[in-house]
Amino acid sequence: MHVRKEPSIRIAVALACAGIASFHASPALADSAPGEGFDVTRYDLALIPDLLNGTVAGHETITLRATVDGIRHLGFSGNALTIETATLDGIPVASALHGKVLDFDLPRPLRRGRDVKLELSYHGRPARGFAGSSGLLYTSYFACDWMICPQDRFGDKADFTLNLRVPAGMETLSIGRMTGKRLGPDGTEIHTWRASRPYSAYLYGFAMGRFSRADDKAGSADLTYLSDTVDAADLKRRFAATPDMVAFLSDKAGLPLPERGYVQLLVEGDEAQEAATYSVLGVDALPTTDNDPAEDWAIVHELSHQWWGNLVTCATLKDFWLNEGITTFMTAAWKEHRYGRAAYDAELDIARKRLEGARAKGFDKPLAWDGSYPNLGTRRAIQYSKGALFMAHLRTSLGDDAFWSGLRRYSRTHAGGTVTSIDLERAMEAASGRDLHALFAEWVFGTDIPEHQPTS
Ligand SMILES: [Zn+2]
Repeated sequence: MHVRKEPSIRIAVALACAGIASFHASPALADSAPGEGFDVTRYDLALIPDLLNGTVAGHETITLRATVDGIRHLGFSGNALTIETATLDGIPVASALHGKVLDFDLPRPLRRGRDVKLELSYHGRPARGFAGSSGLLYTSYFACDWMICPQDRFGDKADFTLNLRVPAGMETLSIGRMTGKRLGPDGTEIHTWRASRPYSAYLYGFAMGRFSRADDKAGSADLTYLSDTVDAADLKRRFAATPDMVAFLSDKAGLPLPERGYVQLLVEGDEAQEAATYSVLGVDALPTTDNDPAEDWAIVHELSHQWWGNLVTCATLKDFWLNEGITTFMTAAWKEHRYGRAAYDAELDIARKRLEGARAKGFDKPLAWDGSYPNLGTRRAIQYSKGALFMAHLRTSLGDDAFWSGLRRYSRTHAGGTVTSIDLERAMEAASGRDLHALFAEWVFGTDIPEHQPTS
């Protein structure tokens, strides 16, 4: 995600980021944190969203594996949904909301490595993560408010299948590809969406509505532009740079688009939110005139997350800068590619001003700092802005060949997986043949330096 205009953050996005901050600031939850003690391998969902009322009814099967011996309950992110039924391998289990954790008590402790199926049904009005209008519903960031999952467990990637029941004639969007469409009861259709690879829960999402549509190509990848607010010709014009962006970012990542396709849903407002294989962008977040580098950031920022964030994902919030700092840097790199060096410098100047703003208030931390941030703006000044400046500094220090080769190595090595900061250091060291530990200690680790393994 990205919020450009800091003083006028849209409510949904403000809540999204506030949610991250408050969860992170609650170490007391550590012994019963959502997702602790197990790995989810797949989610199978059947959802009936009610567009007019902003409610949802769902049936969900969570296949998971215990990663420690003797866990007695399964914790997920607490939300506003009412659990109707819950069974573990067919045996009823009790659920209770403890603060921000939704706990399912197990009939007997699980041993490590045991695979089980938690089957749930629920209904309710999600407190966060639902947005739209009378004719459109789309989700934004807070997947675990409209389904049951551990929101901040970035390192736990799982398969995802969604059967979405909507009024006949309505269109849907979710992650991956639509693999089936069939008639449902009472004038409805059921659309089945499936992701081709596991993703972290915060990247799950869907939308329903009636859309204008434009199709495009970036090499062999299919690009789709959807909107409930502008027509196909306008979509094509606004997203015209996307194929060039895909070519540029694929080259820098050394990898094609993860699903060989990408969808952009254009909505009212200033939304800028990535999901696993699509992004939601607000009209107000896009440039009002063509070829204006100052306004050109939202499309490329969210598209960059297809590689940095979605495919290569920080293991925990501690290394969130790897998602957002690299993406913010790639926005500057795209501007250099499209508009020239001055646009790159201007983008980095914005980052520099934000970091200086935090420093003026006495706040500066290493990028992989694990403490609580005083507020959202400060968190962004470090994880987005300082992160981008560090990438630019690495580029200057190593030279273009070694730097881009290091970024490609990092992206390819960890595609589909999760990363911490040491993974970036190792990739850059391998590409440059240099010991970068002092540099990473200064910018990234501070005094919290992990054991150093010299480059071979
Ligand atoms: Zn972002």
